[in-house]
Amino acid sequence: VSDLMTGMDYGPAPESAAEALAWLVDRGDRFGCHIDGAFTAPGATFDSRNPATGEVLALITQATADDVDTAIAAARKAQPKWAKLTGHARARHLYALARMIQKNARLFAVMETLDNGKPIRESRDIDVPLAARHFYYHAGLAQLLDKELPGHAPLGVCGQIIPWNFPLLMLAWKVAPALAAGNTVVLKPAEWTSLTALMFADLARAAGLPKGVVNIVTGDGAVGEMIVAHEGIDKIAFTGSTEVGRKIRTATAGSGKALSLELGGKSPYIVFEDADLDSAVEGLVDAIWFNQGQVCCAGSRLLVQEGIAEAFHDRLKARMEGLRIGDPLDKCIDIGAIVGPVQRDRIAALVESGGGNLFQADCPLPDHGCFYPPTLITGLSPADPLMQEEIFGPVLVSTTFRTPAEAVQLANDTRYGLAASVWSENINVALDVAPKLSAGVVWVNGSNMFDAAAGFGGLRESGFGREGGWEGLHGYLRPDLPAKALKPLPPPAPGDEPEP
Ligand code: NAD
Repeated sequence: VSDLMTGMDYGPAPESAAEALAWLVDRGDRFGCHIDGAFTAPGATFDSRNPATGEVLALITQATADDVDTAIAAARKAQPKWAKLTGHARARHLYALARMIQKNARLFAVMETLDNGKPIRESRDIDVPLAARHFYYHAGLAQLLDKELPGHAPLGVCGQIIPWNFPLLMLAWKVAPALAAGNTVVLKPAEWTSLTALMFADLARAAGLPKGVVNIVTGDGAVGEMIVAHEGIDKIAFTGSTEVGRKIRTATAGSGKALSLELGGKSPYIVFEDADLDSAVEGLVDAIWFNQGQVCCAGSRLLVQEGIAEAFHDRLKARMEGLRIGDPLDKCIDIGAIVGPVQRDRIAALVESGGGNLFQADCPLPDHGCFYPPTLITGLSPADPLMQEEIFGPVLVSTTFRTPAEAVQLANDTRYGLAASVWSENINVALDVAPKLSAGVVWVNGSNMFDAAAGFGGLRESGFGREGGWEGLHGYLRPDLPAKALKPLPPPAPGDEPEP
């Protein structure tokens, strides 16, 4: 074997950024919004940087109130015509979008990695294929819609506000069901990661999507607020922090706008002493270090049964030493860059402010760019802020339990309720514990398993509403009873007449 390998380069081979950078240069490196099927002229702009290098990738427009008005007007104009298409005709467009993503998979993956800092292996093997899958799946639902849900109508124009951790995938989660159901959209990507949304809109137009059906407005939270407050919006679909979700719920209260919120989490990862420990360690690497832990359903709270805690922590630490952190375009990298300095500093400040026993893998960090090492904190008590607060970074906190009942009690001792993971070789233990966990999704001997056909969403402060599956589609429809099916209201009783 060593003879065969002589002279061959098995070292890291970074993915080429040339095609993605050329795409940016072709468009002048300055981006307006994408409204009514075309880019608008750039206005006041801000930098979008590559977090792994600090370099400016492009200038992005901070949308104005006029931009938001124009985008919503375009979506309103396009909506009746889009809704009038049969489900089969809308499906043809959704299939075209799915194929468009697949045809440009490499371009999307490299752009996502440049803009967000996630390892190319993840954007290439997870984000982009899952985004395509969402469009394929919802094309299928659109085909079934007229037959399966007669008497349902789209809501109208949906304002969709997404975070930076899975920019293209979150767009797909939002746009695919909305379009399948006959809505049109105005979507705002997070200010850190606007590029794949702009690329999507540009390539969607080229793939024949009618203008005005998908509109992208860029900018910070102020633009999100304008969308939320706008009278021309029928539904807000939001993914992001619990704090902003709370503001949006207040702002939409009493407005008649439909609302779905996908918010934060502090998901428990429960390891029983009869678990297959090697698999549980590998599962945990995926649960907390996938996307640098910047995952709403990250298994960020390890609960391990007392008898195996020491052995499990030892195995985990050994595995952490083997994680490779560095250039996200390098295909051998396990852990890429944190999305931006603010986020990296927030993670560092949270870790420094907490107690416990800190273990950080001794893997070399790149000397520039926005990186944070994989971190394990043991010896915390359940009420410690680090056990309760979402860190949204590569930081795992850990505590122990003795009995299944105690595991359930600790797992549910959180204000969130997004996901949970249970590890045991005894199916009776797993199936006894799983339904007792307050979480939108519970994985047994696994983590981070997503599919377009499975509804995803939270309980408690993790939000409400589901995305994916039929239940997700229902969130974009309303029962549309024919007028004759509605009983006329009884005449007002004497004395109840409305004031003139
Ligand atoms: P964030 O809430 O700050 O921002 C999310 C989006 O909302 C961005 O586009 C932002 O510009 C916009 N925004 C900010 N203030 C706004 C306002 N007042 N009105 C309207 N829009 C506003 O969150 P983030 O830091 O970008 O993302 C991280 C958070 O998102 C984490 O807490 C994470 O758990 C959560 N998240 C949840 C899910 C889920 O499915 N539940 C998925 C991904 C991320």
